[in-house]
Amino acid sequence: MKALVYTDTLELQYRDEPKPEPDPGEALIKIEAVGICGSDMHAYHGHDARRVPPLILGHEAVGIVQTGQYKGKRVVLNPLITCGICEHCQGGRSNLCVDRELIGMRRAGAFAEYIDIPERNLLEMPQDMDPVIASLAEPVATSLHAIYLVEKISHRPLSECRAVILGGGSIGVFAALILKHKGCRNIYLGDTNSLRRDTAEKLDFGTVYDPLDQDQPEPGSFDLVIDAVGSGRTRASSCELVKAGGIISHVGLQDNEAGLDTRKITLEEITFLGNYTYSVLDLRAAIDLLYRGALGSLEWIDTRSLSDGAEAFREIHEGMVASPKIVLRP
Ligand SMILES: [Zn+2]
Ligand SMILES: [Zn+2]
Repeated sequence: MKALVYTDTLELQYRDEPKPEPDPGEALIKIEAVGICGSDMHAYHGHDARRVPPLILGHEAVGIVQTGQYKGKRVVLNPLITCGICEHCQGGRSNLCVDRELIGMRRAGAFAEYIDIPERNLLEMPQDMDPVIASLAEPVATSLHAIYLVEKISHRPLSECRAVILGGGSIGVFAALILKHKGCRNIYLGDTNSLRRDTAEKLDFGTVYDPLDQDQPEPGSFDLVIDAVGSGRTRASSCELVKAGGIISHVGLQDNEAGLDTRKITLEEITFLGNYTYSVLDLRAAIDLLYRGALGSLEWIDTRSLSDGAEAFREIHEGMVASPKIVLRP
């Protein structure tokens, strides 16, 4: 089969690889669509010690089951393989599983014609749903999970909150669209890339700004800050922008530098919330939102052939891509 293989820092090769042979309990899936994630870019930059080349990356995938009891069905893959028996798995928080493993990290990912994956990681989806749209379920579920955690502790309903999102990648943009869907009418989004700002502006959810500009949103004015970058700088901005009693939702994983103002966090009772991936229910909710068109027109998704994947990575790396999400099709 053909696959896009991460072979070295800043290097991907589209080449022949052995077709996977599923073990008992696994299914072979023919991939129809697979999105490029920020974490794939992180690996491509050589910054992820967990992803060692040569490796097939990619985990935001939809395909047709080729073997086993679900043969012939179109499915979304839950890329998070978990043990199923630890306290977190059994408590419905499988994203915290002690043995969790993401496809495209140690085992092969989905930038390929085929993948093998445990049958319990297959998610039902409407069979007439566009596979490109369905492949967005994973990033949408990440944003949805973050907002769900916020909703549980927010002092006021989201519709009354003033929210700012740092980072206009797919997690940031989906967070903005989900907040809008939930009735939030006071949404800001900051991104340093002008192409991405242009895309975000067209989605009409609120105010888009450049964090490097003179003109900045008012410090201490947001009930909710979603940090979809996760760098020392954005953590410092989050602390500046958040209102007393507000919430910082930390989703990005760019670096582990300092940046938090723990004095302000304490004196002003700021909640700092970590978020990692999603539960199976978040994924199902994401599929449903996408199928119902609740996040508006998704024409801004950039779709390309898997054989052009190396070029897509290079363009994202060089900041030349206006769309926050490229989906590859084998
Ligand atoms: Zn992802
Ligand atoms: Zn577990």
